[in-house]
Amino acid sequence: MRTRADVVIIGGGIQGTSVAYHLAKRGGRDIVLVEVDMVGSGSSGRSAAMILLQESRDQTVRMSQESFKEYLNFQDEFGVDIGYKPIGYLTVATGDVADELRAEVELQKQLGVPTETLSPADIARLVPSVNIEDIVFGAVCWQDGVIDPHSVMQADPHSVMQAYVQHARRLGAEINEKVEATGIVVEKGRVVAVETTAGRILTPVVVNAAGARAAQVGAWVGLRLPVANYKRSIFVTDRFDAIPDDSPFVMDLAAEWYFRKEGKGVLMGMGREESTTFEPQLEWEFLDAIVERAMHRAPILANARVMRGWAGLRSLTPDDYPILGPVAGVAGFVNACGWGGHGVMHAPIGGLLVAEWIAEGKTTTMDMGPFLFERFAASAG
Ligand SMILES: Cc1cc2nc3c(=O)[nH]c(=O)nc-3n(C[C@H](O)[C@H](O)[C@H](O)COP(=O)(O)OP(=O)(O)OC[C@H]3O[C@@H](n4cnc5c(N)ncnc54)[C@H](O)[C@@H]3O)c2cc1C
Repeated sequence: MRTRADVVIIGGGIQGTSVAYHLAKRGGRDIVLVEVDMVGSGSSGRSAAMILLQESRDQTVRMSQESFKEYLNFQDEFGVDIGYKPIGYLTVATGDVADELRAEVELQKQLGVPTETLSPADIARLVPSVNIEDIVFGAVCWQDGVIDPHSVMQADPHSVMQAYVQHARRLGAEINEKVEATGIVVEKGRVVAVETTAGRILTPVVVNAAGARAAQVGAWVGLRLPVANYKRSIFVTDRFDAIPDDSPFVMDLAAEWYFRKEGKGVLMGMGREESTTFEPQLEWEFLDAIVERAMHRAPILANARVMRGWAGLRSLTPDDYPILGPVAGVAGFVNACGWGGHGVMHAPIGGLLVAEWIAEGKTTTMDMGPFLFERFAASAG
């Protein structure tokens, strides 16, 4: 492993590998990424793999629009098929959350997202398995969809991460698996080195892309990053033909319960309890809660047999924006964390913004101001 680098990236999830690629593409040569386990072994390999334009705030809608440019052009840029299937993302709202969804749809339309609103009868026609008795209305965008639908939690990492790694390496970056960062050396307010289980790497810049462990990495340089980890569980059923393969992803907004087809089976997800561990385990007892929700929203799922599942962490910040970019007082420390439930869909823009900032000292694609750690400094610094 190199002992000197221009930039060290801690974390080989979809965000860290995206930073490595975008930085290498901008001419960065001496880039070293360290991943304690395998690329994609954190949250990125456990997601539901949905990419959405239907975001809830203007900054995140713009992030999605920028990310879609890369995702829709992925084959040309990387020579890799990411298996994007625009199955559509349908949100169904009960009365208590209808205003919330209405406001989001209004904003999306203003920003050019082709979101359509649906009446309960439209929803029943579109997805007959959905119980609409308490549904006020729904919203769908047909460009939203799934990438790599069959590779979540499989042996191979997600094709997006594979492509980032492969192309970052081709451009000269070093990607190391099974190497843990254990500390950051700061002298006179500047990063000078990263300590790892494979030795010290002298570097003036370190990127914190450590996902669920981002707060731990921040603490090494005296920061209290407000990133808390929330567990979400996913269960996948055996072949279930009663819900057609081209059915859209359905999100029950009030319950935060969702389903989509995963191959011939059905994938269901739910859960938002804070986690006290970095290694979330699937609790089969939680299946009862998910099934209870399924019985209400899509009763036909009573006939499905759950075969497997997994649990992962969503690393949330208080305002649900990521924490990106530099921090005052520790020159060379750059955040790329706090991605919550958006880290896969926003991987292209996340890596691009951080790379622009490191390479050019400013971002040009989007303003990074709203994502700086400074927004929390009064309460958390
Ligand atoms: C069940 C579930 C469903 C989701 N569904 C979606 C979805 O449909 N769409 C979407 O956009 N997002 C979704 N998400 C969120 C998404 O998975 C995350 O936002 C995203 O994966 C975060 O990427 P990351 O690279 O920041 O973190 P991670 O993928 O967790 O990567 C961080 C990496 O850093 C490594 N690391 C940590 N500490 C160290 C250290 N000291 N040294 C070296 N390496 C270290 C870890 O091993 C890990 O591999 C979902 C999340 C869950 C849990």
